[in-house]
Order: sequence, then C-alpha cells, then structure tokens
Amino acid sequence: MAHVAFIGLGNMGSGMAANLVKAGRTVHAFDLSQTALAKSVADGAKAFTSAAEAVKGAEAVVTMLPAGKHVRAVYEGEIFANAPKNAILMDCSTIDVATAKAVGAAAAGQGLAMVDAPVSGGIAAAAGGTLTFMVGGAEAAFAKAEPYLKQMGKAVIRAGESGAGQAAKICNNMLLAVGMIGTCEAFVLAEKLGLDAQTFFDISSKASGQSWSMTSYCPVPGPVPAAPSNRDYEGGFAAALMLKDLKLALEAAQGVEASVPMGAQAEALYQLFNGLGGAGKDFSAIIKLLNGSWR
Ligand code: NAD
Repeated sequence: MAHVAFIGLGNMGSGMAANLVKAGRTVHAFDLSQTALAKSVADGAKAFTSAAEAVKGAEAVVTMLPAGKHVRAVYEGEIFANAPKNAILMDCSTIDVATAKAVGAAAAGQGLAMVDAPVSGGIAAAAGGTLTFMVGGAEAAFAKAEPYLKQMGKAVIRAGESGAGQAAKICNNMLLAVGMIGTCEAFVLAEKLGLDAQTFFDISSKASGQSWSMTSYCPVPGPVPAAPSNRDYEGGFAAALMLKDLKLALEAAQGVEASVPMGAQAEALYQLFNGLGGAGKDFSAIIKLLNGSWR
C-alpha cells in the first residue's frame, strides 16, 4: 500500500505524523533518535532504519528537521535517489531561503515535485492539527501537497514559487519579534508611568497600538489568560527558536540588500536574552530583560 514517509519526528514532527496516521495514512517513519522513533511507533507509524528505506515506494515525503544543513543532507544523500518519481516532497522545516531554493531546484533537476512548507504554530498546534502552512513551489506541486498538509493543519496557503514559503515564514516571524519587543516596551513604560497593566491593555487593545502580541499573547500576566506570561513564560515559542528565525531573516535580508534595522535590533536583543539564560523561555519573556527583572 502506498504510504507517507516522515523524516524528523521531534517536538513538531511527532504530532504531525500522528495526525497523518489519524487521518488514515500509513506512515513510514525515520529519525536519528530512537526515542523519537519509538514515540511515533506508539502513535501508529512504522519504524524504518534510514530515510532511504522509509521513502522507498512512498506517495509523499514529509521532512521536519532542525536546519538547512540537515535538509540538504537528507534530500541529496537519501531521498532523491530513493523516492518514486511521482512522489510529492514536502519540507516543513524552517530553513534559510537559499537552501530551500537550492534543494527545490535539485529536486526539479531529478524530475521530482517538491515544496517548501514551513509552519506557523508551535508544538501544541502540531499535535492538535492546527498548523498554518506557507507553501513555496510550482502550482502543480502545491496541488499534490495540499491534501497531506490539510490533514496536519488548519490553513494551507501558497506563497509563490520555490523558497517563497520560507520567505513568508521569516518575514512573519521578524515582524512578530519586532511587534513583541514593542509591546513589551509599552507595558514597561506604562507601569513606570503608574498605569495599571490591565487598564493599559483595555485601552491599547481597542486603540491603534493593538497587535497579536498584545491581544493573543500578552507579555504581562493577567489580560490574556492563555498566554505563556501566566505560566512563568514556560511552553509557547522558545526564545532560542525566535533567535534562529531572526538570524535566517537577517541572512536573507543581506542577500537581497533589504534594510531591516528593527529586525537587526530584535536579533541583538534576543541574542543578549538567550546569552543571559532565556533561550528556553517563551519569547515574550524578553519583557523581563526590558523591565530589569530577569534573574
Ligand atoms: P526537534 O529538534 O525537536 O526535532 C528535529 C528532529 O529531527 C529530531 O528528532 C532529530 O533527531 C531529527 N533529525 C535531525 N537530523 C536528522 C536526520 N539526518 N535524519 C533523521 N532525523 C533527523 O525540532 P522541532 O522543534 O520539532 O522543530 C523542527 C523544525 O520545525 C525546525 O526547523 C524548527 O525551526 C521548526 N519549527 C519549530 C517550532 C516549535 O515550536 N518547536 C515551531 C515552528 C517551526
């Protein structure tokens, strides 16, 4: 029976693979980590001993790997030579735009259809099947990928040709970082000026300062009960991952000579925060650096 090969079953990939199983797909899984592989087997996937073995006979291949170097190595070393020519290849990792384009071009050179399809939404969204996929690739490749991505997410949006998914992802996350730092600064200043945080929230969330960082993910505890600020900034989207995405954004900006001074400032602040031990905290914890309460 045709199957989906899934390579990279870490925090994100394990939930995504489990949702494909729940949707009725046969999943052939591979991860370098035996622990990760065992979890996916418990969720209903079949374990394989290499990416090459997992992709043999696959109708679709999904990868969810740490960075561009892993993606390049797995596709060029194992997937291209072993996946069937009619399989659709989907890389959902967050990687640099240049590598996404290079691997996409290499796939096309082998006669294989491929999309870059990074996600918005964290571990809970991966497990809950509510990710948003931003997809780069030819229209025909997108059409082949969409049914699989829909089984792992709530929204699947084509951003353009190969690499456009990664471009959309890093532009969004650079904006998110800048917006979060601005929101944190406003709450810190409001407090020093004697404004109650809830009162400032009630006003600004209905005024022109409103943003997702304020109304869905408020960096001070209280106004938005589901936000990580209410759980001592545990869970959520780690500052380490935000720094990774900002570095990708700056690298891409340099490549096309785009001016991103606020993005650069955000990168410097997250670098500082991570160096001071904040890497594992949710990225909204950067408010503690700004109000002087960090450690
Ligand atoms: P993770 O480190 O938990 O998982 C990555 C997995 O890939 C690990 O299990 C690792 O063993 C495996 N792996 C590495 N090299 C491999 C190889 N050559 N062959 C097979 N398996 C290999 O990371 P994660 O949190 O699941 O993130 C995965 C990707 O998703 C990253 O690119 C990340 O930036 C992106 N992302 C993460 C989040 C999040 O909240 N964690 C949110 C959005 C996007």
